[in-house]
Amino acid sequence: MGTTRDFIVSAFADTLLPMFSRSMEDAVYETIDKRQIPTRTDFKEVRDLVNNLRGQVTGTTSGIQRIVDQIETLSARIDAMEARISEGSTMEAPRSKTLTCKVEGCNEPYRAKGFCARHYQQWKRGRLPEFPPDA
Ligand SMILES: [Zn+2]
Repeated sequence: MGTTRDFIVSAFADTLLPMFSRSMEDAVYETIDKRQIPTRTDFKEVRDLVNNLRGQVTGTTSGIQRIVDQIETLSARIDAMEARISEGSTMEAPRSKTLTCKVEGCNEPYRAKGFCARHYQQWKRGRLPEFPPDA
């Protein structure tokens, strides 16, 4: 059941994180390439750039963490829905097979609202006085 969440989280980590660290590297090398021979000022600029990028990456990482948290919440809901669906499919399938119409003497298979298909249609049209239609 946890596979959906694991898949999404790893997709995020695999796709986004290398992208950010790569763009940081590119920016550093680009700055060095432009100056050819780095001076003390260049080193300071590069260091400031790295610090600036590190701040951005940290901000982005916490942004990703928030997204991951939201994904975890969503996937918990998906898990609950999947559980409910699989419960429903194991409980309802035999029910519709074993239940029959609630009209006395009718043994037709269950269709809806406790009736077989024919009696359900009759009930819907108000033709079953012993079972008044829903208000
Ligand atoms: Zn019936």
